[in-house]
Amino acid sequence: MSFEKIVLATGNQGKVAELADKLASLNIEVVAQSEFDVPEVAETGTTFIENAIIKARHAAKITGLPAIADDSGLEVEALGGAPGIYSARFAGVNANDSDNIDKLLSELGDNPNRTARFWCVLVLMRHADDPTPLICQGVWQGEILPERQGEQGFGYDPVFFSHEKNCSAAMLDKATKNSLSHRGKALNQLLDLLKAN
Ligand code: IMP
Repeated sequence: MSFEKIVLATGNQGKVAELADKLASLNIEVVAQSEFDVPEVAETGTTFIENAIIKARHAAKITGLPAIADDSGLEVEALGGAPGIYSARFAGVNANDSDNIDKLLSELGDNPNRTARFWCVLVLMRHADDPTPLICQGVWQGEILPERQGEQGFGYDPVFFSHEKNCSAAMLDKATKNSLSHRGKALNQLLDLLKAN
């Protein structure tokens, strides 16, 4: 399997830069789907894997290039796995990170079971009809704090407690978070798979 150029199915420049950095060592160029005017696609799957495949297939179809997509979210044990694939829109379609955290804390209340984990799925489709996409999964185990701590990161980071560092994800610098996180682990898996092939 050899690639010269891969499109990344995201509008998030941070993710493009992070992936481009990692794949540069394999002489693979990563381009954002926005460079090809790929419109957003509805994430109609019921799993992170399905949603990542939907996004990668869509980008591959429109650009004619191999495509990578990711999908991630937070699973909270006491909430039966919620917010899960709905993490970005937990408090509604126009909700921001703070609204989502407020809803999470209010639903958990003083429940003593604070166990939670972040999931990240990364999918690489060689072409739009690829029947065997490469699928990588990373998980980061932690707990939900009773209140926000820290200013960095995004999403649920201020209330996600890292056992490894004994603080919230929002108190970690970017490199430390990447070395522990669901996304970092999924990315490393993808890199290993690409190197092995
Ligand atoms: P997406 O896969 O980037 O769309 O992420 C879905 C949602 O999951 C985000 O909007 C966040 O709410 C949450 N999420 C995913 N990864 C993280 C993380 O590393 N920290 C905090 N929240 C995250």
